[in-house]
Amino acid sequence: MKVLVLNCGSSSLKYQLFSMTNEEVLAKGLVERIGIEGSRIKHSKTGMDAVTINATIPNHKVAIRMVLDALLDASHGVISSLEELKAVGHRVVHGGEKFAGSVLINHEVIAALQECVPLAPLHNPANLMGIEAMTEALPNIPQVGVFDTAFHQTMPSHAYMYGVPYHYYEKYRVRRYGFHGTSHYYVSQRTAELLGKPVDHLKIVTCHLGNGSSVTAVKNGHSIDTSMGFSPLPGVIMGTRCGDVDPTLLFYLAEQEGLDSKALAHILNKESGIQGISGVSSDLRDVEEAAAAGNSRAKLAEEMLYYGIRKYIGAYAAAMGGIDALVFTAGIGENSVVAREKVCAGLEFLGIKIDAEKNKVRGKERIVSSDDARVSVLVVPTNEELVIARDTKRIIDR
Ligand code: AMP
Repeated sequence: MKVLVLNCGSSSLKYQLFSMTNEEVLAKGLVERIGIEGSRIKHSKTGMDAVTINATIPNHKVAIRMVLDALLDASHGVISSLEELKAVGHRVVHGGEKFAGSVLINHEVIAALQECVPLAPLHNPANLMGIEAMTEALPNIPQVGVFDTAFHQTMPSHAYMYGVPYHYYEKYRVRRYGFHGTSHYYVSQRTAELLGKPVDHLKIVTCHLGNGSSVTAVKNGHSIDTSMGFSPLPGVIMGTRCGDVDPTLLFYLAEQEGLDSKALAHILNKESGIQGISGVSSDLRDVEEAAAAGNSRAKLAEEMLYYGIRKYIGAYAAAMGGIDALVFTAGIGENSVVAREKVCAGLEFLGIKIDAEKNKVRGKERIVSSDDARVSVLVVPTNEELVIARDTKRIIDR
């Protein structure tokens, strides 16, 4: 059985085609600059060099058509007929309170997703465009939605509510939702497998550290708290997002600088975080390099990031009544030896101790804690696409 996984952004579309017999990726690719000059598709068949096709791609419908053509192509394609595709799984950013798990997409689900658009105005419309374009291209294929927010729907109300008047929750569903749920789910499950212990007996802190970052407390296999909130803005500082700030800052800056809410949203989402503090880059690699060369603001950005993550680890150990495992994933978590070392420094009192030699690893699964440490520290490369493919298969097999 072949399952196509789609992750549609407003101007991009990532895809992977899985053979579910052995969970192998047959082909993957990226359509970039949809609706913008210079659009192209980069496609790679597993085991072959990637091909880039430049073309005018005005919208998601044309993008999907190009993906299907690339999959069918005589030289770099992997299927001989569209009949071979049995289902499509979509990454959907926001499922609100309606979706605590993946679902088969039908008219009611689409209506519910449209209701969630105000909660994720930047992401859900693109996800909906992808669903619509796929429905038009292959009207009879089952499609499944897998939500970034779903895994966090197990948070208790005392963790997800904000201290604002309750009627705003009733009226607008103002609360913490959390994101990167598929990733936190995958790495927590994989951690239990690697440790050879049942996930429902483990207290795990999962650190998804990439361009966007979030930390989650996973107790007995369920998310009980997470650092992102109503939006992906709060928590630790990120590439260009500010992380936790005192909301009073917004009123103050609005008055001082004459900024409206749109301008403030832009500053907090696009000009803050590692970029805003360091003034160097939003990419931690550049910042690590600048810090090593003595740039004090780059050093400050690094320290703010590591300190912020450390605080969440401590908070979540308290929230869970202990910690058995600490997991690092995503671009920074999987690749930055320094970031893992600096986050863990000073957490020995919790039983967290990294082995410097084992920690010299990039992009591979490995237990990196010292043999005598009470808490297992792991690097687990995330695989959200595999979770989406598995959920899609599970749902259409029912
Ligand atoms: P992601 O959003 O998961 O793709 O992660 C992207 C981020 O990972 C980039 O912005 C980099 O800051 C970071 N990253 C990737 N590789 C490295 C590395 N070798 N060292 C430090 N940071 C890295």
